[in-house]
Amino acid sequence: MGSICPMGSAVCGRGFSLVGVAWGDWGEMKIWQGLAIAGLVVGIGGVAAGRVEAQRLPGGVRPEHYSLSITPDLKAATFVGSETIDVVLDAPATTITLNAAEIEFASVKAWGKGQGTGNREQLGQNSINTEILGSAQNDEPRDGVTAVVSLDPAKEQATFTFAQPLAAGRATLKIEYKGILNDKLRGFYLSKTKLRRYGVTQFEATDARRAFPCFDEPALKATFDVALVVDAGDTAISNTKIVSDRLGPGAGKHTVVFATTPQMSTYLVAWLAGDFKCSEGKADGIPIRVCATPDKAGLTRFALGSAKQTLRDYDRYFGIKYPMAKLDLVAVPDFEAGAMENFGCITFRETELLVDKKYGALSAKKEVAETVAHEMAHQWFGDLVTPEWWDNLWLNEGFATWMETKEAAKEHPKWRFEQDAAVEKERTMDADAGRTTRAIRAQAETPDEINEMFDDIAYGKAGAVIGMVENWVGEETFRKGVQAYLAEHAYANATAEDFWNTQARVSGQPVDKVMESFVEQPGVPAVTLTSGGAGAPVTQRRFFLSGAAPNTKEAWTIPVCFKGASCRLLTPGATTLDVPVPVPLGMVSPELQFVYADAGDKGYYRTDYSAGQLKAIVANAETALTPPERIGLLGDRWALMRAGEGSVGEFLDLALALKQSSNATVMESALGKIGAIETRIATDDDRKRLDGVIQREFGGVYAGLGKSTRHEADDRAELRETLFEALGRAGDPAVLAEAASQTKALLAGQSATADAVADAAVALVAAKGDAAMYEKMLRLAQTSTDPDLKEDALHTLTRFQSPGLVERTLEYAVSDAVRSQDSWTLIVRLLERRETQDQAWAFVQQHWPEIERNSTVSSGARIVAAAGAFCTVEQRDEVIGFFQAHPVESSERTLAKSIDNINDCAALRTAQEPKLRQWLDAHGAQ
Ligand SMILES: [Zn+2]
Repeated sequence: MGSICPMGSAVCGRGFSLVGVAWGDWGEMKIWQGLAIAGLVVGIGGVAAGRVEAQRLPGGVRPEHYSLSITPDLKAATFVGSETIDVVLDAPATTITLNAAEIEFASVKAWGKGQGTGNREQLGQNSINTEILGSAQNDEPRDGVTAVVSLDPAKEQATFTFAQPLAAGRATLKIEYKGILNDKLRGFYLSKTKLRRYGVTQFEATDARRAFPCFDEPALKATFDVALVVDAGDTAISNTKIVSDRLGPGAGKHTVVFATTPQMSTYLVAWLAGDFKCSEGKADGIPIRVCATPDKAGLTRFALGSAKQTLRDYDRYFGIKYPMAKLDLVAVPDFEAGAMENFGCITFRETELLVDKKYGALSAKKEVAETVAHEMAHQWFGDLVTPEWWDNLWLNEGFATWMETKEAAKEHPKWRFEQDAAVEKERTMDADAGRTTRAIRAQAETPDEINEMFDDIAYGKAGAVIGMVENWVGEETFRKGVQAYLAEHAYANATAEDFWNTQARVSGQPVDKVMESFVEQPGVPAVTLTSGGAGAPVTQRRFFLSGAAPNTKEAWTIPVCFKGASCRLLTPGATTLDVPVPVPLGMVSPELQFVYADAGDKGYYRTDYSAGQLKAIVANAETALTPPERIGLLGDRWALMRAGEGSVGEFLDLALALKQSSNATVMESALGKIGAIETRIATDDDRKRLDGVIQREFGGVYAGLGKSTRHEADDRAELRETLFEALGRAGDPAVLAEAASQTKALLAGQSATADAVADAAVALVAAKGDAAMYEKMLRLAQTSTDPDLKEDALHTLTRFQSPGLVERTLEYAVSDAVRSQDSWTLIVRLLERRETQDQAWAFVQQHWPEIERNSTVSSGARIVAAAGAFCTVEQRDEVIGFFQAHPVESSERTLAKSIDNINDCAALRTAQEPKLRQWLDAHGAQ
């Protein structure tokens, strides 16, 4: 899936065209997400043992082919299904168990080989057509055996018991059933616009079983025939091309039959019914459509261009042509994740696919380009070759996360995706430096545990590790390994070992050792270097953000890549490394010579140096380090400070040393961390003093940018906005006056939107905004037909800080007026902000039943994650007490992480608050 924000990442979306620039709320949750521990840890792992194995299917039966005929009734929110499954039995059996949830069985029959006409070879394509014409009885063999169906709702399984055993070998099941079109954004569900209803699907990870009884495990691949009976005038879209479209059965209906799919997993099947409108194109002979509800069809062109380019690039990169005969990308009005890689039929949240090609904001276009690249990468990595089981979900998500940046950067070299990746890696490493993190490959048996796998580790960490390995073995060598792996496992399944063994064989390098150490062990390594030269002393350890870190035994095989030199492999137990001698910078003094041990910021490790080396690095940072390297340097020093190595004052000195950085993303990193100091460490009084320092130190930098111009470069415009928002938050009177006038013009409908700082201006003004401004924003959120603008306006509601308006936003969030895909976002944003979190938390506790009523698969867990933004022991105990009394699905590990975060924040405040005051005193802060 394309995660709009992987579980555990509390700030969602990557920048907004109206408000909330990429670093958002002082980056508070992005940065503080990973805060870990100083005390209580709720048990994870172990707890789950015992109850889990039972949820897998018992085996002994393998599906070969499904024929599905689905008739939705959009008005009644129900559907009728008629299904045959051709299976192979390993041994004679009187029972067959498969997955089914919220399915009402009408009849189940079976016949074995030679009995009746049930086999696929005999029925072929005709079966489906006959059934959908309502004459299914004609197909039923006389000697088919009727099954008694028993349901196990807890396991989401159904068992068919037959009076006489079915023989080993091929058999066919015929199932008539009914289901509901739910409002939970999972399985076969209902999506609504103001004008009408749509029936759409989302099956990953374990929800195909809500749409059709099936063997719902990724290794049980089969082929599928799908037919949809829909209302006249409606369209139907599924994984494959339409092979026939006929009127009937009955008046006002037509039947759309789709071509047989290749071998694929159940979670990748998809269908949609409604009145979608598409724009069409072609790449490498493959027809591509981008579809949306009719009112938004004009916003499909940018994604179509991206998809065409991406398909051509991937055909070449993978050395295997795109495996399906067509590709559809469809925007769905109600959607849980960011997007879903259904084979040949990718579905998206509207904001992730639709953007105005001409007027859309850069951040919105970047988001679409990356999401399209991510989901299309899955067509090979995930759809063509699928993990054996969910424990190796990272093979899907890590690869797609790594590939999305690579492809988007190739398509748009000027959009600085590598800097975004550096920021993302920082967030991931912080999240991974807590005691409650998990290994990339981890046990996941129940649907709850499987849903919780879609987190920072499966996406961000696995993606960063893949990027590190590619950087080490070389782009072309790595690509050959990818091609060999895909070719070996096409239309089948694979494990982590399959991937790294192939890479090791192709590259002749110990890729298996490196990858195994990062995939099987939790946490982030820290590498410490004290000097250069051959045989230089080096140490590695597991890095914890909490100062009170436990002793652990993890050790990694790490490609340590030096700036200006090649990579060296640091192996577990090694105490020395051939470190290149410091980079000579011409005729300069020794302190300007330095070694930098994470060239290109490609490594998944923290680095620490001797004091002298660090001084030399900082002295050269502006001129000798690339922007991603500077982001990495800031991140390393920040993390080390949080771990108790170094003071908040030393970090502030580094951030100020980089203040002339003309790079927007570096500036966002530095200012975001300073913002986190204000939120997390400073007392109210110290915050005001630090605000004064921000105004004094960054005011001149902002002034130095001069007036914005119409054709300003993107990076400069972003830098301007970053400084503008930071200064505004710090209370700079001139910036606040400018923000007020910008916002006034914007809300009056004047064309202030072109100004670089417009988004930040609205955010700043909203913080102190009144009911009249709130009304305008609410109306925009309710009426805009542009998905980005609508979302931005909705998010802006969470900026208002007056208690009456916060209450309105919270009430609004749990009302029917907000889509359940957006409801939790509002609550989460209010929970994350220092100014509103107490009120939001009180509301959450009082209104839990309403929140639950609006909940989706992951929304509850996202609220649990956001509760980790608190910073006192009392609040921690309240959070624990509440969620113990009100357990949330798929959130066991998330709750443990939130508790760690609170503990660590409290410990950090205690440790650094006096140091912050000392630094403020020393810097003459008033
Ligand atoms: Zn994905």
